[in-house]
Amino acid sequence: MKNLKFAVLASFLMVGFAHAADPTTVVNANDALALLEQGNASFIDNPLSKQQPVKEARIASINSHTPIAVIVTCSDARTSPEHIFNKNLNRIFVVRTAGNVVDNVGLGSIEYAVKALGVRLVIVLGHQNCGAVKATIAGGSVPPHINSIVNEIKPAVATAKKEPGDLLINSIQANAIRVSEKIRHDSDLKDVSDVKVVPAYYSLETGKVHWLN
Ligand SMILES: [Zn+2]
Repeated sequence: MKNLKFAVLASFLMVGFAHAADPTTVVNANDALALLEQGNASFIDNPLSKQQPVKEARIASINSHTPIAVIVTCSDARTSPEHIFNKNLNRIFVVRTAGNVVDNVGLGSIEYAVKALGVRLVIVLGHQNCGAVKATIAGGSVPPHINSIVNEIKPAVATAKKEPGDLLINSIQANAIRVSEKIRHDSDLKDVSDVKVVPAYYSLETGKVHWLN
């Protein structure tokens, strides 16, 4: 069992990191951003996806994992990034938690996408009416694991309280910005110079993704 665990870890490290991403499949940050913008516009305007059938994308990607972006998004069932950006299988590498916060596991997932898969764009997507941010603003006692989410969001709410305007919207946006800064600061990506981390806000009402910087 111990040997098996070691073999699995070794193969993860060797396959994942010793062999960098195929340069022919790497999409730079600006091109990836443009593709996501096109996809979001298509999502807003069209009742049906224009993407190729999922079956074809599944078969084509069996031996080739080539996402163009990491999307750190909320677990909220209304914010599925493949839908929002009108992208098929194998295009978006998703890190998903309530409140779109990242812990060490989330940071490790982002580092894997950048270093092993060649992703150059990381989006942190907050969204309208986020329940995790609402709960943080409401305050009060919550169970311990939920409290660890609330604790991650509290500094953003404190920042938003100093700003004029809608506290919930400002807190959601401040949280996306803060998580982006955490990714830039805490992740081990210093050796990859062309990575962009972009905070964003998704409107449930219009379907539009707004970039926050
Ligand atoms: Zn949410």
